[in-house]
Amino acid sequence: MTAMDAALSSVVDAIEVPTDLLVAGSWRPAAGGRRLEVRDPASGTVLATVADADSSDAAAAIDAAAAAAPVWAATSPRHRSDLLMRAFELMRGRSEELALLISLENGKSLADARSEVAYAAEFFRWYAEEGVRLRGQLGMSPSGANRLMVSYHPVGVSVLITPWNFPAAMATRKIGPALAAGCTVVLKPAAETPLTALAVAAILTEVGLPPGVVNVLTTSEPGPVVETMLTDRRTRMVSFTGSTEVGRLLLRTAADNVLKSAMELGGNAPFVVLADADVDAAVEGAMVAKMRNGGQACTAANRFFVHTDVHDAFVDGLTASMSAVTVGPGPDETSQCGPLINAEAVEKVDRLVRDAIERGARALVGGRPGEGPGCFYPPTVLVDVPLDARILHEEVFGPVAPVFRFDREEDLLPVVNDTDLGLVSYLYTRDLARGLRLAEGLESGMVGLNRGLVSDPAAPFGGTKQSGLGREGSTEGLLEFLEAQYVATSW
Ligand code: NAP
Repeated sequence: MTAMDAALSSVVDAIEVPTDLLVAGSWRPAAGGRRLEVRDPASGTVLATVADADSSDAAAAIDAAAAAAPVWAATSPRHRSDLLMRAFELMRGRSEELALLISLENGKSLADARSEVAYAAEFFRWYAEEGVRLRGQLGMSPSGANRLMVSYHPVGVSVLITPWNFPAAMATRKIGPALAAGCTVVLKPAAETPLTALAVAAILTEVGLPPGVVNVLTTSEPGPVVETMLTDRRTRMVSFTGSTEVGRLLLRTAADNVLKSAMELGGNAPFVVLADADVDAAVEGAMVAKMRNGGQACTAANRFFVHTDVHDAFVDGLTASMSAVTVGPGPDETSQCGPLINAEAVEKVDRLVRDAIERGARALVGGRPGEGPGCFYPPTVLVDVPLDARILHEEVFGPVAPVFRFDREEDLLPVVNDTDLGLVSYLYTRDLARGLRLAEGLESGMVGLNRGLVSDPAAPFGGTKQSGLGREGSTEGLLEFLEAQYVATSW
C-alpha cells in the first residue's frame, strides 16, 4: 500500500460510511457473513470491504420493502417532500466528503465528482418539489354517459439497479422519484462503487425515513440476488441503469411477473460539427461531451462527424485540448482525468483503438494504454477513421475521440443513425433552424444543440431504440413509479 493509498483508506474510515447491508432500517452483515472488496482503480489497493449479499438477503430486503409499502404509500406527499428536501440539504452539506468518496472508489477527478454530487443532490430537491405537484384528471366521456376520473398511485415495491460510472446520481435519480411517488425500494449498486450508495442511504436513514422504505444490498452475485427480487410476486417495478446487454437479461426476467420496467441503457452518441459551426465552441463542447468522467458516461460523445471545411481546425483544437489534459489519480486535485474503472475497461478501449488503427486510422495524441500501475488510458484523438471501424459502432467508454470527415450534409443522417442505440446526439451549427431541422432527424432521445452537456434533473433523460425504455428526471421520471387508476362515475 502506498502512502497515498493508506491516506485514502483512512479517509474512507473518517467519512464513516456504513459498510453493511441496509435492510428494514438496520445495518446488518450479509447472512452468509461474506465481504466484498472495494478497490481504488488508480492503484488497485483495497479501500474497504462491504457486506456481500446473497439471495436470502435479497428475500429479506423484499420482505422489508413489502412490509413498509402500505405505510409509506399512505404518507402525505408533503411529508415525503419534506424528507427528500432534508436529504438534499444534507447531501449538499456533505458534498466535499461525498465527492472524495466517489473519486476514491470510482477514480473520476475531484472536479467531476463534485459536479456529480451537485447533480445527484438536485434529484432529491427536484422530486421534493415535483411530488407535491402531481395532479389527476377529470373529464367527461365522449358519449356523455359518465365522468372519467384519473388518479395516480404508487406502483409498489421497486428494485433499483445502478452502474458504477455515476454512483451517486444514478441512485438519487431513481430513489428521488420512487420515494416521492410513495414507493418503497431495494437499491443494488454496482460492486465497484458500493460506498457512495451506502453513504447516500445513510443520509436517507438520518432524515428519518421509516424502516424498510429504502433497503440497500451490495453483492458480488448480481444475477441470483436480482433474480430473487424480480421473481418475487410482491415486486412491481424494476428500474435499471447499465449496459444494454444486462438490460435485455433483466427484461426477460421481468416478463415473468409482467413488471413495470424502466431501462436506461448504453449509448453511442454522435457529435456532429457542420460546416458553419463555431469551431472553438465545438471543441469546448467536445471536451465536455467526451471527457466528463474520462469518457465513461452513457452520454459520452462516441463518434465525431466533422464537415471537411472545418475538419482540420476542429481536429487541431481537439488535439491541443486533449494533449493538455492532466491524467492521474482522481483524488489528486491536479488530475483532470482519472483511471478507467478496471483493467478490462482498459483492454476493451485498447482493442477498439488497435482495430481502428489496423483499418487505417491515425492517433494524433495517445493511442496506447498508460504504463505502470493503475487502469490509465490517455486522452486520444483518432483521425481518418473508416466507417467500418468497430470503434464507431461500439460504446468506447474511455477518453478516445474517433473523428470521421464528411462532405455532404445530405448523406449524414443515414450514417449517424446507423446504430441500434439512440441515447443522445450532439450537433454544432450557427444556424439554429438548420440545427433544429437536423435534430428532428436524429434518432436519439436527447440532443445537445451547440451544447456538450444535456443532463438536467428537470429534463426527461432517456434513449430511443436499444438505449432504453422510459425516462428519468422531469415529471416523466415520477410517472414511471406511478400507476394511473381510472374511475368511471356518474353523479
Ligand atoms: P452493467 O455491467 O450492465 O452493470 C450495471 C448494474 O447491473 C450493476 O449494478 C451490475 O452489478 C448489475 N448487473 C450486472 N449483471 C447483472 C445481472 N446478470 N443481473 C442483474 N444485475 C446485473 O453496466 P456497467 O458496466 O456498470 O455500466 C456501464 C453501462 O451503463 C454503459 O453501457 C453505459 O452506457 C450504461 N449507462 C447508461 C446510463 C443511462 O442513463 N442510459 C447511465 C449510466 C450508464 P455488478 O456491478 O455487480 O456487475
